[in-house]
Amino acid sequence: MAAGEGNASPDSDDFNASDAAGSFNTAMSEGNSSSPAYNGMGGSAPAPAMLPVAKTSDVSSEMEKLTKSERITEARDAARRAAEEAAKQPKFHVPALGNFTSGFGGRWGTTHYGIDIANSKGTPIMSVADGVVIEAGPASGFGLWVRVQHDDGTITVYGHVNTITADEGDRVKAGDQIATMGNRGFSTGTHLHFEVWNSSGKKINPLPWMRERGISPT
Ligand SMILES: [Zn+2]
Repeated sequence: MAAGEGNASPDSDDFNASDAAGSFNTAMSEGNSSSPAYNGMGGSAPAPAMLPVAKTSDVSSEMEKLTKSERITEARDAARRAAEEAAKQPKFHVPALGNFTSGFGGRWGTTHYGIDIANSKGTPIMSVADGVVIEAGPASGFGLWVRVQHDDGTITVYGHVNTITADEGDRVKAGDQIATMGNRGFSTGTHLHFEVWNSSGKKINPLPWMRERGISPT
């Protein structure tokens, strides 16, 4: 027919402004009814340590060898510095200062499953290695005890303590105080009774275990 047939007339456009606004508002309120999923994680992770890396560029093979050896030297120095830093942080610590008064093994017709270190009441008792306090409270025969589980599964036991200065669940480092020396339970004088249970739960002689780790009560 005439030119222009098929052109939509503005009047026939069925867009309805008020309907559109209504559905838009509905969508908005539905969107607002749910909380944002942001969980707030992250932000405190330490930056990874970077080793210095020598730059390599368009150089002769002699220069390249030199650069490579410098790089090896730098990496070795960095490794040594890291080892020195780690060595400053003691991995093991004596459980208490005092006199070694009794060893592991048969005693008085029974087996003594630990070693005894005697000193005055209130002497600090320290965790021998990094770990977690898994028990701190009353224990038959020991009066009060503290047990610390270390990262390799070994458990150390501190018995007859007078006061407990750590809480169950505490993460401790080697040398951190966990108790004070006492005379509670089946004890014949103020001392620490110290045991080492290996990762299978077997009570082992603490003396060689300690000496292998550079600590000794004697
Ligand atoms: Zn003992």
